[in-house]
Amino acid sequence: MLALYQAADRVEAQMLKDYLDQQGIISVILGDLLSGAMGELPATIYPTLWVVEDSDLARAKSLTELFFSAPPMTGEPWRCPVCGASVDPGFEVCWNCATPDPNDNE
Ligand SMILES: [Zn+2]
Repeated sequence: MLALYQAADRVEAQMLKDYLDQQGIISVILGDLLSGAMGELPATIYPTLWVVEDSDLARAKSLTELFFSAPPMTGEPWRCPVCGASVDPGFEVCWNCATPDPNDNE
């Protein structure tokens, strides 16, 4: 299990976790429970999202960047012309090989 992202609060951590769930990446939120149980710790402990499967970390990081940089979009997935991966419409680049969406004219 590897640390992925330190959230500002529990809500943000949960939103990102739900998003990763949708992408098939299993994650857990740690940190806020710890701070509640140990009152002597400083208040700088934030909920942290952990990726359960180490092999998912690189993809999870890419998804996290996209999650915070692009608003959710609807539409049809597009297929990466380089590696053939099916990419959700909200992504401007392939999650697998970072190739830009050839149909994105914005
Ligand atoms: Zn690709």
